[in-house]
Amino acid sequence: MSEIVLACRDCGQIHRAGTSLLGRSLMCRRCGAVLWRLTSSGFAVPFVLAVTAPILFVLANTFALFDISLAGDDRSTLILNGAVALSEYGDGISVVGVLVALTSAIIPALSIALIIMTLARLRATARGGAPPGRGLTGIWRLALHLRRWSMLDVYLLGAIVAYTRLGQLGQVEVAAGGYALAALVLAQVLVEQLLGRQQVWNAIGDPAKHSPTAGNPWVLCLECDLVVARMVGDGDRQRCPRCGARLERRRPGSLATTAALTAAGFILYLPANLFPMLTITRFGRAQPYTILGGVHDLATAGLWPLALLVLIASIIVPVLKLGGLTWCLIAIRLRSARALRQRTAVYRFIDFIGRWSYIDVFMISTVTALVQFGTITTVEPGPAVASFAAVVALTIVASGAFDPRLMWDAGSGARQV
Ligand SMILES: [Zn+2]
Ligand SMILES: [Zn+2]
Repeated sequence: MSEIVLACRDCGQIHRAGTSLLGRSLMCRRCGAVLWRLTSSGFAVPFVLAVTAPILFVLANTFALFDISLAGDDRSTLILNGAVALSEYGDGISVVGVLVALTSAIIPALSIALIIMTLARLRATARGGAPPGRGLTGIWRLALHLRRWSMLDVYLLGAIVAYTRLGQLGQVEVAAGGYALAALVLAQVLVEQLLGRQQVWNAIGDPAKHSPTAGNPWVLCLECDLVVARMVGDGDRQRCPRCGARLERRRPGSLATTAALTAAGFILYLPANLFPMLTITRFGRAQPYTILGGVHDLATAGLWPLALLVLIASIIVPVLKLGGLTWCLIAIRLRSARALRQRTAVYRFIDFIGRWSYIDVFMISTVTALVQFGTITTVEPGPAVASFAAVVALTIVASGAFDPRLMWDAGSGARQV
């Protein structure tokens, strides 16, 4: 029985698994991370779902998400209208407009194209075509990197919050684009669940070919999860034989980058919460709302689940991320061996949850695009939108730059190879 070497991305523990074990899901015995996630066999079903995505994407972007009517006047909005509406305001807010355009339209479109290209190529190989070359490894690497910035799922939740808040102002109806968006998000979630990153990598290149023999030094490729025999003394120039990425024992510059971004996040967290996120002007009376004000508004309208959702996504999660990363950094500094498993679990949660904080930003972009009824009612974004969007972006990049294996290195005293 041939053997595959798996290394944990979160704690650096090495595991040897018989290929028969890959028919199950495997967890790291040291830190509890998922080492190998069992997904559907074959690429046929994910491919069918992936090719429906461009159709749904076009529908979601050409038909209105909602229609709102107020005092006999009607408005409707497309996904991109939110980005355009924000880009018309001052410097910081217009940058948020670019961010919204990237995360809700440009990157999702690119991701869909990259996944279809990957699956089409792998299916051709499975049918006896030529083996995939370096071009495909580049495409799949880019698709994986874009995953956390492709935010239509977060956008959908933001649109649901917007829909509820708009219901307080006028008569709102979900339009064809809204249904297409929901179907698109469903298709994307299914593709993500059915298509394991490691299954794709193993179809690109067999890991058993490169597995190091027991007892020898090894290095984990963070791009494709391949465990490779380490060329001692040549570590800086060694490249992954499967995906071509530069191999590093630990993520370079991890601590300095994470610390700098986390500090910047703390500084921007204050203005994000003190200044208004949006201002609603009704018949000349302006009512500004901070993040907490928006939560309060939803709660007093009896919309408790949504109030709780915004409270968690916009206030609690950013604090948890900044505090959690600080805890991880200080523990490394103190070379602490306490609560390593729990700390690693906190890091995993932080890294997973971060993007969901954009719910409020997408809600504001949608509402701003829709509610422009002259003197009757208008909605304008507030200065906090820019600092809040920056806090979330900084924490996403910070948790991506952090290498949790450094906590285990520091905790065990001796550096693990
Ligand atoms: Zn582990
Ligand atoms: Zn690699």
